Order: sequence, then structure tokens, then C-alpha cells
Amino acid sequence: MCICIHCHYVDRCNTYHAVEHQHQQPHLTDTPNFEPVEPTIEVNIRSSGEMIEMEWDVVGCDSFKEEKHKWARLRPGELIPT
Ligand code: SF4
Repeated sequence: MCICIHCHYVDRCNTYHAVEHQHQQPHLTDTPNFEPVEPTIEVNIRSSGEMIEMEWDVVGCDSFKEEKHKWARLRPGELIPT
């Protein structure tokens, strides 16, 4: 689970923007302007048959500033990324 969905900077952050790209998700912003300090990204690789799936999750970040459910507030009714 990506900690970014509860982070104040999720709609401005360069790293989260890259994570959205990897997950082929629509971006919260096209012009991220916040550079986080030391984000730690965990990459999980799953394969089933011919398909290889990569999942990127930010699991730690010095810039994390808790704002519970920020992502869900920005995208009401949408499935929350896991
Ligand atoms: S936790 Fe870090 S990487 Fe994730 S949105 Fe916040 S500042 Fe960006």
C-alpha cells in the first residue's frame, strides 16, 4: 500500500506522479512541483503466464505529511489505488 494516498503532497509530488505513470493511472496533476526527500519505493514483480506485472509503492518518505484520505477526497467515488 502506497503511503502517498494519505499524504498532503500527493497532488503535487514528482515521485507520486512517477508512480501513477507506472500504474498507468490518470495523473492528479500534469505539473507536479514538489520534490520529496528520500522517498523509498518498493517494487513488486508478479508474473502469471506470459504477463509480468510491476507494482510500485512508496513505503517511506522523509517528506510525508499526513493528511488522511487526501487522495480519496480528490477523486471521490473512485477506487483507491492499493
Ligand atoms: S509520501 Fe512522499 S512521495 Fe508520497 S506523495 Fe508524500 S511527499 Fe510524495
